Amino acid sequence: MSEATRQVTEADRRPSTFPAHAFAAASATSGFRPLTIPRRSAGPQDVQIEILYCGVCHSDMHQVRNEWVSVMPTVYPCVPGHEIVGRVVKAGNAVKKFKEGDLAAVGCMVDSCRTCENCRAGLEVYCETPGGLILTYNGTDKYLGGVTYGGYSDSIVVDEAFVLRVSDKLSLAGTAPLLCAGITTYSPMRHWKVSKGQKVGIVGLGGLGHMGVKFAHALGAHVVLFTTSPNKVADGRRLGADEVVVSKNAEEVQKHAGSFHFILDAVSAEHDLNTYLSLLKRDGTMVLVGAPEKPLPVSSFALLFGRHSLSGSAIGGIRETQEMLDFCAEHNIASDIELIRMQQIDEAYDRLARGDVKYRFVIDMASLKS
Ligand code: NAP
Ligand code: ZN
Ligand code: ZN
Repeated sequence: MSEATRQVTEADRRPSTFPAHAFAAASATSGFRPLTIPRRSAGPQDVQIEILYCGVCHSDMHQVRNEWVSVMPTVYPCVPGHEIVGRVVKAGNAVKKFKEGDLAAVGCMVDSCRTCENCRAGLEVYCETPGGLILTYNGTDKYLGGVTYGGYSDSIVVDEAFVLRVSDKLSLAGTAPLLCAGITTYSPMRHWKVSKGQKVGIVGLGGLGHMGVKFAHALGAHVVLFTTSPNKVADGRRLGADEVVVSKNAEEVQKHAGSFHFILDAVSAEHDLNTYLSLLKRDGTMVLVGAPEKPLPVSSFALLFGRHSLSGSAIGGIRETQEMLDFCAEHNIASDIELIRMQQIDEAYDRLARGDVKYRFVIDMASLKS
């Protein structure tokens, strides 16, 4: 076929790329190895970010280990990471919010259809268009084909509509986890109107749970933390809990029966929901943000006595993520982190699997260069 008659293919329309350094999992059990990945050259609406820090979410581990196979099977090699902060190194000529040198952040999504009812309401995470929501990793890369690669990398290119502004008042490494752990706990608390005078329970003191404690405290609620780890009791109080209950002690747990307006469950593994449902007041709501591998049984009696509600919540929209970041800057809220080198990621996953996290691992991307 001559050049003139050749059909223009998808591949021809693809933007040019540049190589980025990343760490990837080749399979559910391989652990992480360095990998060079392509990033698209910034288009007119795009922001190219040099990634400085990336948080390690338990979702990264669920995904890498293919524990969510029935809902979102993992495509390998997998480069996770959706708690991204860094500096803008290039802004396309139509970009309005950012210029070179600005701090910027990217969370769990990099695009959506932008036209459905939920996108127009600023709730892109609930995008109704099939294939509309593009997750930061393990999503469909509509520019380059294949799969999207996340923040365990030194660089990312994202449409400015999905890039957040970051304050320089907070520790930058402590800001990274706000992009998932922060918004995922902030959003349901705003939606269910957590406020002063309410009693709020937080279940599980990990990455999400510790942000939940901080937000519930900042919103003026009386906060009770439930933890399986006796060695986290003092930290729970320091982070803002008014009371801390070690949940293995059933008698201590039952002292709170029928007393909560709202409970946020941020547990990553199998556990008993019915005990916590019975702690709600009449018309109280328990919201699941934890996403364990296996379904959890619910007793109808735990719901119908007291007209309790059980709900779930996913991350949060872009508008609300910016609102949360601004709220954090105003109230001096950041994540309590343990900074690690990229090369320590396998060890961090092992610790995360044991609940041994205080309270978010954050990768220092400078380690990718050394
Ligand atoms: P994480 O840092 O590992 O924290 C999970 C905490 O759950 C642990 O620290 C532990 O707290 C508790 N826990 C663990 N195993 C348990 C067990 N068998 N029984 C009772 N408690 C247990 O995880 P994360 O990053 O905060 O994420 C938590 C969950 O939320 C994950 O499933 C993640 O995928 C999900 N997630 C959902 C969304 C969303 O949009 N809804 C967003 C991000 C993450 P204690 O030691 O205090 O008991
Ligand atoms: Zn996450
Ligand atoms: Zn949409």
